[in-house]
Amino acid sequence: MAPALVLRDGRVWDGVSAEARPADVVCADGLVREVAEPGTARAGADDISVDLAGATVLPGLVDSHVHLVWDGSTDPVAHVAQDGEQLTAVRAAEHARAYLPAGITTVRDLGGDWDIAITLAAAVDRGHLDGPAIVAAGQTVIMTGGHDPFWGIPCDGPDAVVRGVRGQVAKGAGVIKTAATGGVYGRSHGEEVGASELTYEELAALAGEAHRRGRRVAAHALGEDGVRNAVRAGIDTVEHGVFLAEDVVEEMVRRGTVLCPTAEVYRRMADGRAPGYAVRKAREVVEAHRRSVALAIEAGVAVIAGTDAGAPGMAHPSLVDEITTLRDYGLSPLQALKAATSAAADALGMPGAGRVRPGSPADLVLVDGDPFADPGLLRSPWGVVRRQSLRWT
Ligand SMILES: [Zn+2]
Repeated sequence: MAPALVLRDGRVWDGVSAEARPADVVCADGLVREVAEPGTARAGADDISVDLAGATVLPGLVDSHVHLVWDGSTDPVAHVAQDGEQLTAVRAAEHARAYLPAGITTVRDLGGDWDIAITLAAAVDRGHLDGPAIVAAGQTVIMTGGHDPFWGIPCDGPDAVVRGVRGQVAKGAGVIKTAATGGVYGRSHGEEVGASELTYEELAALAGEAHRRGRRVAAHALGEDGVRNAVRAGIDTVEHGVFLAEDVVEEMVRRGTVLCPTAEVYRRMADGRAPGYAVRKAREVVEAHRRSVALAIEAGVAVIAGTDAGAPGMAHPSLVDEITTLRDYGLSPLQALKAATSAAADALGMPGAGRVRPGSPADLVLVDGDPFADPGLLRSPWGVVRRQSLRWT
């Protein structure tokens, strides 16, 4: 059995409470075993004991929307096409390795070429790759000619989408990603922001089958009707959520549908860090997006932090930028940190994760100072614990 890890005299934020409090944290068997009064945790002779001298302990961070095969350049799709499957896989592994030093211990990968992200998830699980836990969608279930066709499986009609879901589950997908509308970067022609794609009937069949197989559904949705279709169909997380209508926001609150805004990426693309057609579309939506997110926050929709890292202008990792932008769009400092920890873990179907409580995974971040006052501290944590093993960064 691995020695226990005893972190003494930290200030522990549990991922949920309003503030951090002085405590010792004991990790054993890959889990947080105990959060004890400061100075009271006992370490055995073989255990690893670290004096934190008042440093802050947080749950490992969660980025709920990444694309590991993409490199965050101006046109990542072109790079994948140029490099082909094998080199793209190696680059994706390199992107995955960048997350732990940044304190990000879980990512949800919402779409990629071939089965690379699913393979990386298994590689991390089995200890072949030193990276965050990866909840991977792999290929996406879309309509013929739908958003992100380069990695989409074209499925038309309820039977076809059910087949699409089953195919992804068979490959090992941890989540199902679909597209309810067109998008900004997707492709240069024939795809419009706001235009609905899979129908309500198709989305309902998709969500039903995914849930029956124990998988959550993330729907790319930026368009009033498309978001409404997705929410009514019972999908779990709305990705992007531009053009949210008031009735839809209310329905999201009623159903517990979660919003993953990916707020920062639209600002980056609108800044010019994308191909011309995407810059133009991003500029058209960026203000509407801000209003949509503010409307959702006001109504009490659960919001989680996802960056779209890998997409144009978004390097791996970019989570602190998203946390900052979500605060800018109306989340309180506490809500913004929950969006990247406990709220995210709940939305991903990992209850108990994203917390520092007995029984939580021993995935932790150690920083000096108060991340509520300054989330920028999370850019350079001085220590990261992943599956109970502590690394100095
Ligand atoms: Zn995305």
